[in-house]
Amino acid sequence: DHQLPRPSHRRIMTVANQKGGVGKTTTAVNLAAGLALHGLRTLVIDLDPQGNASTALNVDHRSGTPSVYEILLGEVSLVDAAQVSEQSPNLLCVPATIDLAGAEIELVSMASRESRLKEALSREALEELDVDYIFIDCPPSLGLLTVNAMVAAHEVLIPIQCEYYALEGLGQLLNNIDLVQKHLNRTLAVSTILLTMYDGRTKLADQVTQEVRNHFGDVVLKTVIPRSVKVSEAPGYGQTVLAYDPGSRGAMSYLDAAREMAERGAASRERQ
Ligand code: ADP
Ligand code: MG
Repeated sequence: DHQLPRPSHRRIMTVANQKGGVGKTTTAVNLAAGLALHGLRTLVIDLDPQGNASTALNVDHRSGTPSVYEILLGEVSLVDAAQVSEQSPNLLCVPATIDLAGAEIELVSMASRESRLKEALSREALEELDVDYIFIDCPPSLGLLTVNAMVAAHEVLIPIQCEYYALEGLGQLLNNIDLVQKHLNRTLAVSTILLTMYDGRTKLADQVTQEVRNHFGDVVLKTVIPRSVKVSEAPGYGQTVLAYDPGSRGAMSYLDAAREMAERGAASRERQ
C-alpha cells in the first residue's frame, strides 16, 4: 500500500453544505480514514450537535466528555479533547456532545464569536497533535458553528448529492463563503467538491453530475461516491466503511477520493 504525499502545509478543510443528508459526515470520516490508512495523521472535528462523526468513529461523546463545545467556550484545549480512534492511531477525533446544541445561541453574545474555533487551532496545538489533515464536520445550517468552521479552515469541501435538488441552496452557501472571505478569512477557498450517493441506474444522477462539472470545473473530484448500502450500515457498527467492509465499492471510492485529494493538493502546490 503506497504512501500518499504529506502536504507541505497542514490542510484544514471544512465540510459544509447547509442541506442535511448530503453526505457531509460520511465524507469527513471516510476521507479521514482513507488518509489515515495511507499513513497521514488526520483529525476529524465533529461540529454537529448530532455527533454523527463521533458515532461513526466510535469515540466517547457522552455529555460532559471534553468536546468541541468546551473548546468553543475556551475551557478545554484541542489537544485535551482529541481522542484517538480505535480504527487507527493516525485517526483522531474531537467529539461533539449534546451540549453543543445550545452553542449556536450561546456564541451570539460571546467575544470574537466567529473565530473561537480558529483560536483553539493554534500553531502550538496543531504541532503537538502533529496532524496533516483536519476535517471539520459542519451541522446542516449556515449559523455561527459553520461560520466558526469557515474562519478556522483553509479550504471548503462541499459534498453534493447526485439527486434532483442538488444545486438548490448552493448559491446561499457560496454567498456565505464569499462573506467569510471578505470579512473574516481572506484565504478561504472552495477547493473540493465531491459528488456523493451516485446511483448509476438513473439518468438523473448523470445529469446532475454533468451540471455540477460544467458549473464548477476542476474543483469537482473525478472520483464519484456511489450509493452503497455498506456505506450507510457502517456507522451503526461504530466504523467507517473502510473498516467495516474494506473491499466494498463504497470503501474503494472513498479511498480513491482521499488519494485524489492528497495528490491534487500536492500537485497544485508544485504549480505555485
Ligand atoms: P450529512 O452529514 O450531510 O447530514 P450523512 O453523511 O449523515 O449526511 O449522510 C446521510 C445519510 O445517508 C446517512 O444515513 C448515511 O449513512 C447515508 N449515506 C451517505 N453516503 C451514502 C452512500 N454513498 N451510500 C448510501 N448511503 C449513504
Ligand atoms: Mg452530518
